[in-house]
Amino acid sequence: MENQNCTNWLEIDLGVIRANIKNLMEITQRPIMPVVKANAYGLGALEVAKAAGQAGASWFGVARLEEALKLRQGGINHPILVLGYTPPVCIPEAVRNDIRVTVYNLDTASAYHAIAKKTGTKLKIHVKVDSGMGRLGIFPEDGVEFLQDLLTLDGIFVEGMFTHFARADDPQLPTTDWQIDRFGALVAELQAARLKPPLIHAANSAGSIHFARSYFDLVRAGAAIVGINPNPPDSMLPAGFKPAFSWKTRLISVKMMPSGSGIGYGHRYITSKTERIGVIATGYGDGYQRIPGNTVIVHGKMVPVVGGVCMDQCMVQLDGVPEAQIGDEVLLLGTQGMCSITAEDLATLWKTINYDVITSLAERITRIYLD
Ligand SMILES: *Cc1c(COP(=O)(O)O)cnc(C)c1O
Repeated sequence: MENQNCTNWLEIDLGVIRANIKNLMEITQRPIMPVVKANAYGLGALEVAKAAGQAGASWFGVARLEEALKLRQGGINHPILVLGYTPPVCIPEAVRNDIRVTVYNLDTASAYHAIAKKTGTKLKIHVKVDSGMGRLGIFPEDGVEFLQDLLTLDGIFVEGMFTHFARADDPQLPTTDWQIDRFGALVAELQAARLKPPLIHAANSAGSIHFARSYFDLVRAGAAIVGINPNPPDSMLPAGFKPAFSWKTRLISVKMMPSGSGIGYGHRYITSKTERIGVIATGYGDGYQRIPGNTVIVHGKMVPVVGGVCMDQCMVQLDGVPEAQIGDEVLLLGTQGMCSITAEDLATLWKTINYDVITSLAERITRIYLD
């Protein structure tokens, strides 16, 4: 779609996605599993996956089976792993589409086995280990017995084993090395017992930047691929990685408001003189948070949002940009000339993290892909 038709759109640079993948392959010298859950962090799962595939990504990770099926239906033929929970009733569909699922509980594994047997095709699974995340996974000390038990279930094939880091984005802390030690010890034990699954993985984006010991056989990454820093300033992407997106809108009204005019719901802003007030087609219904202090870029200049953010619109103070007129582009997220607004900037203002800012970008925002 052309952006002339749009009043609110994301520009996603697939060339940047491909470059970020290549950087990560170069750094880690491992196959990459882009994690394209939550619609590839808001950027569009299928388009991001296709670009990543062109750049040499070998796997895809998602949180839920529905997300995996969308990739398959969209023509992605790579191996896909569901990192979260898959209900047993969904197993025939997973098998039919050759989707790998995650296992961390023996009863669930038995249920998968029984159902997969009926389909006549083995279900491929990856075992999740809780080496210190405190979320999904078996404890490392139970790993050998768990893998032995899984061996008795001939409806499933244990293709992989993985863990996830709680604090890799704070690399000064000892936690990640401790997690790698615990997970690595289990891998060694399984190797000795000839029970080691073929594919071992642990690193997320932060792990792949800061902990070479975390690479094992495969690297899973989301943030590094879309180009956001895992945890600024403690965990920054190395030079060469770039954000793959900008978020734009348009001025849809510009008018001179007399001194003393209330602006928007609750009159949270009142003009103190005659002011040039614009309206932009962006609101909290797009994921633009209803928090005071937002700024946008108009004609290369930073401009304050004034009054409350409405669902579909908000107002901006244009005294500093006399040339601004209806239809002009406005940058919400990205760089223009000397000015830039990053997902981190919005996250700081909104008291959240950059991941949350971009995964909250609403579905109604048009995604435009630059190749
Ligand atoms: C989301 C997720 C990732 C990717 O994390 P990034 O910090 O975006 O690289 C990797 N592994 C698992 C299990 C995840 O849930």
